[in-house]
Amino acid sequence: MPENKILVVGGGISGITTAIEVAEVGYEVVLIEKLPYLGGRVVKMNQYFPKLCPPYCGLEINFRRIKQNPRITIFTSTIIENISGSKGNFTATLKTKPAFVNDNCTVCGECEKVCPVERTNEFNYEMDKTKAIYLPHEMAYPWKYTIDESVCKKYDCKKCIEVCKYNAIDLEATSKQLQLNVSSIVFATGWYPYDATKLENLNFGVFPNIITNVMMERLSAPNGPTLGKILRPSDNKEPKTIAFVQCAGSRDENHLPYCSGVCCTASLKHTLYIREQLPEAKVKIFYIDLRVNGRNEDFLNIVKADKNIVLIKGKVGLINENPDTKGLIIKAEDTMTGIRKKVEVDMVVLATGIVPNKIDIEKIKYDNNGFIIPGLLEDGIFAASCAKRPLDVSASLKDATGMALKAIQETK
Ligand SMILES: Cc1cc2nc3c(=O)[nH]c(=O)nc-3n(C[C@H](O)[C@H](O)[C@H](O)COP(=O)(O)OP(=O)(O)OC[C@H]3O[C@@H](n4cnc5c(N)ncnc54)[C@H](O)[C@@H]3O)c2cc1C
Repeated sequence: MPENKILVVGGGISGITTAIEVAEVGYEVVLIEKLPYLGGRVVKMNQYFPKLCPPYCGLEINFRRIKQNPRITIFTSTIIENISGSKGNFTATLKTKPAFVNDNCTVCGECEKVCPVERTNEFNYEMDKTKAIYLPHEMAYPWKYTIDESVCKKYDCKKCIEVCKYNAIDLEATSKQLQLNVSSIVFATGWYPYDATKLENLNFGVFPNIITNVMMERLSAPNGPTLGKILRPSDNKEPKTIAFVQCAGSRDENHLPYCSGVCCTASLKHTLYIREQLPEAKVKIFYIDLRVNGRNEDFLNIVKADKNIVLIKGKVGLINENPDTKGLIIKAEDTMTGIRKKVEVDMVVLATGIVPNKIDIEKIKYDNNGFIIPGLLEDGIFAASCAKRPLDVSASLKDATGMALKAIQETK
């Protein structure tokens, strides 16, 4: 018996938007997210353009809309394994990781205090650590602790169970499989940052003071590893000189052949973070072309007017470390003057691009770069936002709303 239900895969800003729009016009929706919390990449930003709001600003309203709407069912720590059937009557096979912490959790934090195991914190792009039992972040939705199964010692330890007054921890929990009958499916599976270690000439991961743009977001965020202070990793000192390397891997046949469309504006935004905290810091931005559109052009005007920020049209060929200062020596050609430049800075930010998340399911068709090709999807299956092409939040929201409209047309 077909159901009048819609499945949304991916709980970032796009998936959340599709789910809410679908539910608010009266349809049942199931939103699944592979991580233990909703919000995707946006929740990890310090501020997002064009208005430079903190991410919680928009997400809090959305979380409230989710809580108030009984037509939305959320499964976190859940992935989709298979789809069978056809439009109006799909069967989706979902798999949920073990729920070691249940909804009794009050986030009192007693378990975290006694947990003896540490893990690297992927929320902060591995710049700090959490305990094996941890709260993903301070506005996590759902609002509860989670356990990293890969490091937890389970019953060899069970200190967390001993201190939990709320019977919220079950270390024997197992993963669950669920068959869901839905009329249409929207994939809003988003993106991950390009692996900068593949850019061998730029030496990310070799020299500590080379970071990426997503790390810069966390470094500037008040709930980040340095509580919002922009400090260089090797010595926790304020950098006096910072360079941005645009198109780090992007528009390069050997890495990502396409433009991610957001990295230029993101780096301009980062210079504003720097300017606010470090008024005297000198910034150099090495770029191929500056692609900034719409309201974001204001950022470019601010940056151009700042005498301590220099825009250099030229591709960076090599970054090495000065072992005495731990500063970075950048070699690049200024293509406007033809002069080869060699500059030393305290810290480098690589503007890496957007890589789409892929799912190994036959019904989803991808292009060579891993973006879903909407025209090759069968009826009743849709893709939203960054799953199809790189987009900023504003464009993602519009696309996700459009996909909600398409999805509800497949219901009875
Ligand atoms: C450095 C940088 C800075 C940026 N700054 C801005 C900015 O200031 N302003 C702006 O407008 N845009 C900015 N962007 C772009 C912004 O990040 C994207 O527009 C936004 O993340 C798109 O949201 P999304 O929901 O489509 O994808 P995502 O945020 O990636 O969310 C996708 C979600 O799907 C989940 N998922 C993936 N696969 C599965 C699966 N198999 N099963 C279940 N769930 C799955 C993921 O875990 C994730 O939660 C920036 C991008 C970069 C690189």
